[in-house]
Amino acid sequence: MKTSKIIIYDEPTVPEIRIEKLEKFLKDIFHTDVEVRANFFEDADEKLFQEISTSRIFELKKPFSKHIPTESEIEMERENIDNSQNEEKILYDGFEFQKIISKFIPTNEQNQDTLHIVLTNKLTCTFDESDFRYHARSLIGTNPSIISTTGIIEAPAKPKEYYLELMTNFSKENTDKIKEKFKGEFLEYHDPRLSEIVKGYMLQSIIYYETGEAFCENKECRLYNAHWQKELLHSQLNKKFCSKHEKSFKKLISYS
Ligand SMILES: [Zn+2]
Repeated sequence: MKTSKIIIYDEPTVPEIRIEKLEKFLKDIFHTDVEVRANFFEDADEKLFQEISTSRIFELKKPFSKHIPTESEIEMERENIDNSQNEEKILYDGFEFQKIISKFIPTNEQNQDTLHIVLTNKLTCTFDESDFRYHARSLIGTNPSIISTTGIIEAPAKPKEYYLELMTNFSKENTDKIKEKFKGEFLEYHDPRLSEIVKGYMLQSIIYYETGEAFCENKECRLYNAHWQKELLHSQLNKKFCSKHEKSFKKLISYS
């Protein structure tokens, strides 16, 4: 492995990540140095808040153009650090977001050997040229890698029946009933399964950084790019690689 050290930046508003478990998980399998740090935005330079707010997106059907933030939007970035849910659902262009984060990593830690994985509750999105609109994303590679805890919940779609029932039953009472009916079939905020799911995204980001191999087509594999919540839960809670990736994974760790 080219990586000799992995630095994870915590998202303490989502304690279900169980950062100490993730740290142990990575240490155990990769035998690299793993360091856990506070949230990337904690005690951050004023400039970071200012720059991050330039990556906000307001129109889903237009490609990115740099936003000129107001004072209150910058202030909001600072205040949102402690918000457990990004209630206002602010959307960010994932690639811009990643570029900005990379600028704020200390120069002596910007090297091939150190992989930075930033966990955040901010919702990253990428613009898709094929349908010409933005989509929420859970993971933005490479170094630094961004894992959006809100993206994990919002990006892979919930069952079609769930949306259909919601669309035809408007009352609050019905909405609660529908949610109860589908409970467990998709991730919710503060879902205890998040820790295991985040492990999978960490594996995806490390393997992508190391081998350049992005996602897998096999639904049984931890590297599968899930478009549905059901697939995400299946591929990650199954905790397995497909045979091809099992091989490349073993090869990778044998050189570490
Ligand atoms: Zn695979």
